[in-house]
Amino acid sequence: MSRSGRIAAILLLAAVAGTAYADDPDRVPSGSPADPPVLRWYYNPHGEPAWLDGEGRKRVEEAIEAWAPCGVRFEFAGETDQSPGLRDGRNVIGWDAGLGPGQRAITKTMMKRDGKVVERDVAFNSSRAEFRLHPRLLRKVMMHEFGHVLGLKHSPDCRDVMSLGADCRRVAPDELPLVPTENDLERCRASTGPS
Ligand SMILES: [Zn+2]
Repeated sequence: MSRSGRIAAILLLAAVAGTAYADDPDRVPSGSPADPPVLRWYYNPHGEPAWLDGEGRKRVEEAIEAWAPCGVRFEFAGETDQSPGLRDGRNVIGWDAGLGPGQRAITKTMMKRDGKVVERDVAFNSSRAEFRLHPRLLRKVMMHEFGHVLGLKHSPDCRDVMSLGADCRRVAPDELPLVPTENDLERCRASTGPS
C-alpha cells in the first residue's frame, strides 16, 4: 500500500473508530463570547498541483475568507511538512493524491474522548484534472471543506456551498457558488463552530 493509501486507510479507520487526543497546542482560547473564535491553520504545500503555479495557499486563503461573514476568523500559522490527517495538534490544510477516485477532498475532525474538537485537517485531491479545467469547482470544493471545518453538515439545496457534488450533478461548473449562500451562512452561525 502506498504511503498516501495508508494515510487514507488510517483516516477511514479513525473516522469510524473516533480518536482521543490529549494535546492541543494550537487551539486559541476564544475569550469572551463576543470575540470571534480563531482557528489557526497550517499549510502543507507538498503535492500541490504544479498548474497552481505555487498559488495553492492563496486559493485556500480566498476560500477561507469567503466564510468571514459567518463571524469566524482563521489565522494562517505557517507552513508545515506534516501531512493533513495526521494527529499533531495542528489544523493542517494540504493535498493528497491517494484519495479515492470519486473523492475530491476529505476533512478529518479529530476529537478528544469528551467530544471536544482539537484538530481539523483538510486534504484536497491533487490528482483531479477537473480542478484545473474548472477553477470555480476547486473554489467550491475548498469552501465546502472549510464549511465542514466550521462544523457544518451537507445541505440538500444545490445552490449551497454545502451541497454534496454527487447529489447535484446537474449544476454546471460555471454555475457553482463563488461564496457561501445566505442559507450556508445562517447554518454556519447556528453551528457550534470551532471549539
Ligand atoms: Zn462534504
